[in-house]
Amino acid sequence: MMDTGLSHRLPAIFVGHGSPMNALEDNAYTQAWARIGQTIPKPKAILAVSAHWYTHGTAVTAMETPRTIHDFGGFPQALFDMRYPAPGSPPLAGRVRELLQPVDVRLDHEWGLDHGTWSVLVKMYPDADIPVVQLSIDANQPPSFHLETGRRLAALRDEGVLLLATGDIVHNLRTMRWGSVPAYDWAARFNQEVRDCLLRGDMQQLAAYEDWGHDAHLSVPTPEHFLPLLYIAGAKLDDEPVSIPVDGIELGSVSMMVVAVGKLA
Ligand code: ZN
Repeated sequence: MMDTGLSHRLPAIFVGHGSPMNALEDNAYTQAWARIGQTIPKPKAILAVSAHWYTHGTAVTAMETPRTIHDFGGFPQALFDMRYPAPGSPPLAGRVRELLQPVDVRLDHEWGLDHGTWSVLVKMYPDADIPVVQLSIDANQPPSFHLETGRRLAALRDEGVLLLATGDIVHNLRTMRWGSVPAYDWAARFNQEVRDCLLRGDMQQLAAYEDWGHDAHLSVPTPEHFLPLLYIAGAKLDDEPVSIPVDGIELGSVSMMVVAVGKLA
């Protein structure tokens, strides 16, 4: 069980992680990630939901020492050489399992930290001294399930745990182009619609994104990069502010929007 003596409720944060190269680069997005890490109260542990752990059923990492997973190809050796040696937290894994009952959350000893998680954390918490646990995304469940899971996990925010979800609100690799290219119109429109929806606090509408039409279909051709956002949307408590610390579309069709629920400072 986590200590509950914290006076601050931690925010819950979604990060558009974009290309793994952000782990090596220093840009407006990675600077925003770093600033969040420096601004909010230091968490006792982090529960990460990454687009890159998309599974049948729900699992939570329960090992003492999660490995750094290099789940990509065709990038410079420097990226493969990166490690994020944060410890795990079997007690947090157990707490997550308890909070999500009756969903049967499998305790995992194989996964670790994928690049959706560590490419952000190397900037947010470069010292890697905060325990990190990953929760997988059950590919068999509808959006409403992921929103509800976020709602149940919100209790952790009062226990010193940072809920950190990482994906991309717009993520179309077929249309993506390397270099400095403008956003596709449909990508910009969908990104803006999601932004408006978040700032209105209309999370039910957000979870209905599959019915939004053509822009949504192009922006979210597969759900795994969008669904992490619903965990953060679900963790919003009544009357809490929603803020967008940084936003932008890179490579034509990859959104870098960061979303925070709750106070950032
Ligand atoms: Zn990704």
